[in-house]
Amino acid sequence: MSKIGIIGGTFNPIHNGHTLLALYCKEKLNLDKVIFIPTYTPPHKSDKDLESEVHRLNMCNIAVQNYPDFSVSDIEIKRKGKSYTYETLTSLKEIYPNDTLYFITGADMFLTLEKWKNPEIIFDKAVIAAVPRNLSDSEMLNSHYQNFLKPLGAKACILDEPVLSVSSTFIRENIDNYDLIKSLIDRNVYEYIVKNNLYRE
Ligand code: NAP
Repeated sequence: MSKIGIIGGTFNPIHNGHTLLALYCKEKLNLDKVIFIPTYTPPHKSDKDLESEVHRLNMCNIAVQNYPDFSVSDIEIKRKGKSYTYETLTSLKEIYPNDTLYFITGADMFLTLEKWKNPEIIFDKAVIAAVPRNLSDSEMLNSHYQNFLKPLGAKACILDEPVLSVSSTFIRENIDNYDLIKSLIDRNVYEYIVKNNLYRE
């Protein structure tokens, strides 16, 4: 029986916060592997600035290439439509019936989980692993779990340290300033962005 981390994301683009999130959860929760799952259409975001699913998938593949325990799944991209997490976890549980799935999320998404489509199915298929954005988040995450998620059947591991202060929005907004973002994004991902002229008006 393995422990498999799942990171769903728009990954627009993937950055070092995402890979550090996976590494941190892998180490703390003793995961055997982590699967990154780029969305087709994110259920909660507008199309503005959204690069194509093919580019976002390619960037994920580039970002994980030096991590033997990380992989990328195109399950949501192939399914098309809105990428509801309950559907993805249902499919993954069919593929890995004897393994434990850990759905890895940052603080913002964790605080909205009870409003996602069919949250009880999500909580039946996976343990939720939540990582704070700031040191002060942990108490809020714990209280959200006790008040909103646990009553719906969720099992959650709330980790206590933030990984890296970066967002995809910050990367997009500073895409022409490599010196500013070079410690926040994989160099090969950055070269892919430049080569394909992504995130430019
Ligand atoms: P994203 O922006 O690409 O980020 C992916 C994950 O990484 C998020 O959980 C995000 O946390 C976390 N993260 C990014 N940078 C981080 C950092 N520096 N430190 C710690 N955590 C960091 O992805 P997204 O667009 O929010 O989507 C997340 C997933 O939720 C997707 O799979 C989407 O389909 C799913 N979702 C599903 C539903 C639904 O089923 N109804 C609704 C909403 C979202 P934060 O949460 O803090 O941003």
